[in-house]
Amino acid sequence: MAPERLYLFDTTLRDGAQTNGVDFTLGDKLTIAKMLDDLGIDYVEGGYPGANPTDTQLFAEDRKLGATFTAFGMTRRPGRSTSNDPGLAALLEAKADAICFVAKSWDYHVRVALETTPEENLASIRDSIGAAVATGREVLLDCEHFFDGYKANPQFALACAKAAYDQGARWIVLCDTNGGALPHEVETVVGEVIKLIPGDHVGIHAHNDTEQAVANSLAAVRAGARQIQGTLNGLGERCGNANLVSIIPTLKLKPEFADRFEIGVSDAQLKSLAHASHTLDEMLNRAPNRHAPYVGESAFATKAGIHASAIMKDPATYEHVSPDRVGNRRKLLVSDQAGKSNVLAELERIGLKVDKDDARIMQLLDVVKEREAIGYAYEAADASFELLARRVLGKVPNYFDVEKFDVNIEQRDNAVGQRVTVSLAVVKVKVDGETLISAAEGIGPVNALDLALRKDLGKYQGYINGLELTDYRVRILNGGTEAVTRVLIESQDESGERWTTVGVSPNIIDASFQALMDSIVYKLVRSGAPA
Ligand SMILES: [Zn+2]
Repeated sequence: MAPERLYLFDTTLRDGAQTNGVDFTLGDKLTIAKMLDDLGIDYVEGGYPGANPTDTQLFAEDRKLGATFTAFGMTRRPGRSTSNDPGLAALLEAKADAICFVAKSWDYHVRVALETTPEENLASIRDSIGAAVATGREVLLDCEHFFDGYKANPQFALACAKAAYDQGARWIVLCDTNGGALPHEVETVVGEVIKLIPGDHVGIHAHNDTEQAVANSLAAVRAGARQIQGTLNGLGERCGNANLVSIIPTLKLKPEFADRFEIGVSDAQLKSLAHASHTLDEMLNRAPNRHAPYVGESAFATKAGIHASAIMKDPATYEHVSPDRVGNRRKLLVSDQAGKSNVLAELERIGLKVDKDDARIMQLLDVVKEREAIGYAYEAADASFELLARRVLGKVPNYFDVEKFDVNIEQRDNAVGQRVTVSLAVVKVKVDGETLISAAEGIGPVNALDLALRKDLGKYQGYINGLELTDYRVRILNGGTEAVTRVLIESQDESGERWTTVGVSPNIIDASFQALMDSIVYKLVRSGAPA
């Protein structure tokens, strides 16, 4: 039997933009739309033309996507005609391939929020869908609060859906707007809807308020729905929307779905999923969720020694899918619980060829254990581990020496009489027999030190120009007078590669300095800089 087509509809740019602290510029929106298109998403919902300048501009030009570029807006207001509603007019004028309307489908909302009658709500749906269909575009209706509405008054909820379908809407999208529905409820309700509207015209739009938006989306598909709406990384207001980054690989890799359905995302596009997820985080200036299913850094990480030795024999023993299918990688954590097999596997991944009976492997394991006992955390700092391993194996050149550094913190009044705290760092570095002195001001001492250290590394400067510090985390360990500080620094380079380094010391500046040094040296090693 030929697989049935399932359609993916992304609303990162519309519903996802409702997230607290997220504010997309026009440029961001265009970049994300292109990324979604490259990933093989069928529909990209861009926003709400007429509602704000960014979205109006977004729909002022034909964006020429392969995906169906969709504008979103409300059905005509109660008591107005379609020709006398500016919001509707802006929507019909938008340069979009499809128009997605939202309308109430819960009679309680119609009475209380819209203050109109059920009959007028149905007329508004019919008129608006009819007007949009007449423009020749594909039309969708988001039935707001459909599941709550169905529980309260199934006849009315179904009548809203049916009215849109009868007017020629391509998709009737059932929305769990409050996000409180459970999978078995979704499956039952969608089952009732498809008795009236064919499943290949029914979509699901789930919110994550009980952390079941993905499960609810899959339940809707099981019951017959054939369009799934969601966002990248589950972005969205409150607890977010259904996460397409989890849904896509489940549809592609789990036989229950993969055998019955096909989606627009190819196997090759699936391999770019982790990258797409991390790119969005980067644009939002957020550290990626390490524990994100499929794409998180820890999604395929194994810690305990016996698990690691089994994984080395056959990865399927502890992995539900192969990490490379989604562009992620297997990671065997090197930690104080580590056995020799973790270390061997990590060395193999790094590309360091060592005989498995080489005495230096046990030596490396001992160093890792000793250092973890005083606070280093190598499972979180893969780049520091790689440097440590290369050092034990005698493979890290001594690129440069920091002869001394000095960090000052000063609080004073600035030129306009505001109280400010500024930091100044001076670093004296010896590169190739030459002494270089750099100074930099920063918003804090670590920032100043980082800037001064990377300002002039002589012949190595070209290798570190694209280096940038993306995350900085501090933990105080032990407590009391014995307290030491652990600093984890995440860096990235111009190619988007990210790595984490660690430093430990009773002094936070010293711990930060160690982590900064590891980050720079790691970059030089990876770039193949000459000694
Ligand atoms: Zn929504």
